[in-house]
Amino acid sequence: MNKQKGSLKKHQQKVIMKKIAIIGAGWAGLAAAAELAPHADLTLFEASRVAGGRARGVAVAPFSFADNGQHLLIGAYRAIFALLDKVGVDMDTAFVRQPLQWYLHDGVHFQAASGLPAPLNLLWAILTAQNATWSDKFSLLKQMQALQTHHKKNLPDQSVQSWLDTQRVSQKWCDEFWLPMVWGALNTPLERASLQRLCNVMADGVWASRAASDYLIPRKDLGGIFAEPVLHYACQQGAKWQPETRVREIALAAQGVQIDGQDFDAAIVATAPYHAAQLLPKTLGQSVRAAIDSLEYHAITTVYLQYAQSFRLPALMTGLAHGTAQWLIDRSRLNGTNEIAAVISMSDDVSGSLKTDWAAHVHADVLRVCPDIGEPIAQQVITEKRATIASTVHRVAPDMADLNARGIWLAGDWLHSRYPATLEAAVLSGQEVARQILRC
Ligand SMILES: Cc1cc2nc3c(=O)[nH]c(=O)nc-3n(C[C@H](O)[C@H](O)[C@H](O)COP(=O)(O)OP(=O)(O)OC[C@H]3O[C@@H](n4cnc5c(N)ncnc54)[C@H](O)[C@@H]3O)c2cc1C
Repeated sequence: MNKQKGSLKKHQQKVIMKKIAIIGAGWAGLAAAAELAPHADLTLFEASRVAGGRARGVAVAPFSFADNGQHLLIGAYRAIFALLDKVGVDMDTAFVRQPLQWYLHDGVHFQAASGLPAPLNLLWAILTAQNATWSDKFSLLKQMQALQTHHKKNLPDQSVQSWLDTQRVSQKWCDEFWLPMVWGALNTPLERASLQRLCNVMADGVWASRAASDYLIPRKDLGGIFAEPVLHYACQQGAKWQPETRVREIALAAQGVQIDGQDFDAAIVATAPYHAAQLLPKTLGQSVRAAIDSLEYHAITTVYLQYAQSFRLPALMTGLAHGTAQWLIDRSRLNGTNEIAAVISMSDDVSGSLKTDWAAHVHADVLRVCPDIGEPIAQQVITEKRATIASTVHRVAPDMADLNARGIWLAGDWLHSRYPATLEAAVLSGQEVARQILRC
């Protein structure tokens, strides 16, 4: 009898559950799915065979693992780590975590003190930096302080370049700190990069706490770390997974929406912006379309190299101020293999032979650091042309009220109001939309 009552209750709960579709299983769509699955009748549509979107694992023999691009996470990515914890991912197996270290082979080296709280850890790092004079060190500290003051005063946004000009920042610090920092964090040219978003990254990621500035490098592919466990969790909670299903259109229905003919109470469009506009009903979302039209995208190229002999780069992330690659990730420190993953941010910003022969140019970078390393025995180049959405000055999230009123919601890295288009922005955006839908 009790059993019957229990199953009736379950049935009644199911009946009143909203029927929700998520279009796109990148990190935003997956985060929304994990949030909604226990409370909704959920279907997750994904055009590709696998989940993960712009941060997905790819099989590239003979490399130990590969993603569609090397990713770096920082300690401030709290939403991601909480979600990984919820779905049972062991952080130590997934990532190497270490305190902020800035090591440029042809420039400055410093390392945050692990025993000091922020921002003293950074102060100590800069004061003990190598390859910088005392005058250089005090200039960088002054620039950091000026940026903090700018942030606290909440001044109008401007480009990073215009701010660097007003601070009269030397060529050394442009080349060895600000440019690699802005390209790495915002993937946007200095002339158009938003100082406000850079401040937000520094405030939450460097000045907030020592742990926030730690960086975390994946030890295995991001599909295995994030996409698969989160998808598995959502499916366990009842979500229906529809891979290799490219949604064509969302139409308005008397109650809710129709997705390629199927009825739903609500839909979350969690695709990249360049796929979102075409899905929306023609009569709605003018502000979203205008915002999408104004976006600027930049490429990131990742070069994977494998060598016959073992080596050790001077740091897990060894940088080059004047190289083709900005960062060389030493995988011998991740999983003991003789592999390097090299990151070239803003790779659309160069021309000529570089673009056709990334691997040879990156190998030349590696030879500068490790002259005896020999020739690579395997190489793989992956360029994502629209890797990230530029964090340009004054970019704001569009007004989506008309879409929301008809049960259509948008999520994705490009919609976060404070952060650049990153993994954390994608996850926060997906979770926020899911919570809004549950409140309706
Ligand atoms: C090479 C590279 C390096 C990066 N490095 C970093 C880094 O170090 N740190 C960091 O934080 N971020 C980094 N990023 C950015 C990060 O990967 C993205 O911000 C994040 O993955 C975006 O997630 P998303 O869910 O918003 O969008 P997406 O990942 O683009 O997901 C959208 C999904 O929608 C699917 N889709 C599209 N149209 C349809 C349709 N019609 N029907 C069904 N499905 C559809 C797509 O197949 C895709 O799976 C990097 C990105 C790249 C490419």
